[in-house]
Amino acid sequence: MFEKILIANRGEIALRVQRACRELGIKSVVVFSEADREAKYVKLADEAVCIGPARSAQSYLNIPSLIAACEITNAQAVHPGFGFLSENAEFARRVEESGFVFIGPRPDAIATMGDKVKAKEAMIKAGVPVVPGSDGELPENDDEVIEIARKVGYPVIIKAVAGGGGRGMRVVHEESELINALQITRSEAKAGFGNPAVYMERYLTKPRHIEIQILADEYGNVIYLGERDCSMQRRHQKVIEEAPAPGITEEERRKIGEACVAACKLIRYRGAGTFEFLYENGEFFFIEMNTRVQVEHTITEMITGIDIVKEQLYIASGEKLRYTQDQVNLKGHAIQCRINAEDPFTFIPSPGKIEACHFAGGYGVRLDSHVYAGYTVPPYYDSMIAKLIVHGEDRETAIRKMLGALKETSFVGVKTNIPLHEEMLHENGFIRGGESIHYLENYLKNKKSK
Ligand code: ADP
Repeated sequence: MFEKILIANRGEIALRVQRACRELGIKSVVVFSEADREAKYVKLADEAVCIGPARSAQSYLNIPSLIAACEITNAQAVHPGFGFLSENAEFARRVEESGFVFIGPRPDAIATMGDKVKAKEAMIKAGVPVVPGSDGELPENDDEVIEIARKVGYPVIIKAVAGGGGRGMRVVHEESELINALQITRSEAKAGFGNPAVYMERYLTKPRHIEIQILADEYGNVIYLGERDCSMQRRHQKVIEEAPAPGITEEERRKIGEACVAACKLIRYRGAGTFEFLYENGEFFFIEMNTRVQVEHTITEMITGIDIVKEQLYIASGEKLRYTQDQVNLKGHAIQCRINAEDPFTFIPSPGKIEACHFAGGYGVRLDSHVYAGYTVPPYYDSMIAKLIVHGEDRETAIRKMLGALKETSFVGVKTNIPLHEEMLHENGFIRGGESIHYLENYLKNKKSK
């Protein structure tokens, strides 16, 4: 096992990784921007290095600064967390070329999965179901594109090959809109991602978002840790997540899980990863793979008892997977509410000083957060300030537990989306379970028009 690693991230995930390090007796080096200098997890780290000014481009995204921080602290490995450089193949490559271990997949696996067309091709090869669509990138010729769209069937969605973060895609309902939408998406893709290539998929109208967590070691051993339902989204951002997904059968889970395992073996995947699917009418359709730990990894930990961040560290240090598939047993139900410093209904960010706060507690309640009374939420980064997670013997218990935990939790000084979570957990659709990815947005739209 490593003696010392560097955490190339900030906020909640930096603290999460630091906690795993402590349990394993690994020293952690935390990097921070000038805006995060006073954060408690920075003070709690074994070592801390300032890597630049507040703006991410000059700090958390600054590869030379991060590598220099490894060099001066003699860290052996780098944990990228999520967001920032976590899915940047170039960063992974530079870390490894500089003689450090990247705690994640091989750079070529990150690159393959970051190219959506290549990722889809790999999935088809491995027998993972994908959304029907164009055979790779769309051709230059408009008539050919029109022909492809007719075959795929309207509505279709045009997506940037290099897209990410819910950007670079456009839904087309009929042929008359197609060419215009194609041109706009191409030029947006070129401006936003430096690559104008786009592809086409059938647009699923009422899908759920269901994803499979996997762990893979250096030696070709791969396991799946069940699924998560992340259909409660706003602007493609997940708001509430739960595991297992309501209504998914043992048999469905096994089938899709095994397909993901086959895909990992094919691309020689290493580390933790997530296969994201849209799920409609009993069918799974692959949309993308996240080659890093995710915000919602926590709920899988709660139902499997497996600490995913610790396993990332074991895998990166060259150990064999410590669990076999038979040892993965799902127990109970877990829900996570992402608590953001923002207005609960206008979603305007609410950075500033947290004057006072109180965290929920009790059996099966977990609050992952880097904030505390007196902490100032900086305006420069993501607005997530806490993740409230509950684990109950079944879904109904978990919902009740979450409602209690939300009531207990309070932040004074900044607005949070706790009131929205409370409303959602009282909604019939949510209580029934299995709603589509449009549920939350429709709910908000209806609320506004009332
Ligand atoms: P990104 O990498 O930008 O997150 P994804 O391919 O994961 O892009 O898609 C993001 C979201 O866009 C999905 O969660 C879903 O809400 C929507 N989406 C993507 N592809 C389709 C599709 N074929 N049909 C319906 N919705 C889609």
